[in-house]
Amino acid sequence: MASYLVNERCLAKLITLQLKKKYSDKIRKGYPLLEKEAVSVPEKLKDEGQLLQLVDEHHHYLATAYYGNQNKGLGWVLTDCKEEKIDHAFFSRKFAAAINLRKQLYQDEQTTAFRVFNGEGDGIGGITIDYYDGFYMIQWYSKGIYSFRADILSALKETVHYIGIYEKKRFDSKGQYVEDDDFVAGERGSFPLIVKENGVNFAVYLNDGAMTGIFLDQREVRKAIKERYSASAEVLNMFSYTGAFSVNAALGGARMTTSVDVANRSRAKTEEQFNVNGIDPKTQQIVVDDVFQYFKYAARKQRSFDLVILDPPSFAKTKKRTFSAAKDYKELLKETIAITKNEGVIVASTNSSAFNMKHFKGFIQTACKEMNAKYTILEEYSLPSDFKHIRSFPEGNYLKVVFIRVNK
Ligand code: SAH
Repeated sequence: MASYLVNERCLAKLITLQLKKKYSDKIRKGYPLLEKEAVSVPEKLKDEGQLLQLVDEHHHYLATAYYGNQNKGLGWVLTDCKEEKIDHAFFSRKFAAAINLRKQLYQDEQTTAFRVFNGEGDGIGGITIDYYDGFYMIQWYSKGIYSFRADILSALKETVHYIGIYEKKRFDSKGQYVEDDDFVAGERGSFPLIVKENGVNFAVYLNDGAMTGIFLDQREVRKAIKERYSASAEVLNMFSYTGAFSVNAALGGARMTTSVDVANRSRAKTEEQFNVNGIDPKTQQIVVDDVFQYFKYAARKQRSFDLVILDPPSFAKTKKRTFSAAKDYKELLKETIAITKNEGVIVASTNSSAFNMKHFKGFIQTACKEMNAKYTILEEYSLPSDFKHIRSFPEGNYLKVVFIRVNK
């Protein structure tokens, strides 16, 4: 028998969903994701946003989840307390807790952009919220979580002071960004908005397609590069996007930065980031090219670098080739080692959740071995604390960054 739960959205039908034993055990241990394989009768899942009462093979209550289709899975656990209602007050409690955890960042005048709510890490999978100097940016990762929009928005508006709120929907059939007007409430900002990160300026756009101009999860890595690795260095920034690493390197005293990205827009975007930090972009090199072409070019010209930053996407298709971090990272490292100076440093970064830190270090080890290079690991980074993650969901801690000193 289906039971009914009154929540403020509607009289939502609470569907009971029995999980296979292995998956019941995982959920019981705090795993927040409803995996496709966990569900024996997927036909029961009809409307995204449906609340699901997850039960084990003995029909014992495990958790309450919602149905929201993402490539990661079929939905997320919201609570393991049977009585807890999923309503406006539920979202308010989650937001208040999340904001409380970021108190220090809110007070830090040198950093005005950071993550406020990190999906399952903060108790609600499928949604993230970022702060950009008075503006909030909500990202929705499924139609399911989007169906709670009214409650979520009003809970957020009550919890924070905001100038404006923007959103991005990332849930078309392929899990991609949905082109739409991103403005939600308050005042529309004027863009670029200049935010600060550890005193460095960044021009961001909350209303211009899938990305804002800065990946907030690399804050600590940018700081390390600026403070400890750039002085007098010849720096190469591969997959540079808007050149955020290059700007930090230049401010840290780099002799020269070279930023390489295949996207045409990256040139103007990188020039803009240099400009907003008072650096003349003409004094830096910006190259629009495939990194694999640039490796060949650099080898031909016998160019080599003191510091090479590698931050590729997990997966990318260009006209010439498909890049997959899981398959191609080792090769990428080998090409990099070839143009790194003796005693030079490689910053190897990946946001792929297809492999963990141990595997990543395995790629590094093999690449160095195949290039007859010795190496020392100098530093390691994963997600900063505002990108909160939970122990029961290690794949949520996707960022892996290793600073390697290479001896050739
Ligand atoms: N390192 C950046 C973020 C990288 S995002 C930062 O700190 O902000 C990934 C970037 O890789 C995108 O800008 C994309 O255009 C670029 N890219 C993807 N494949 C590429 C290739 N084969 N060669 C050069 N750039 C590539």
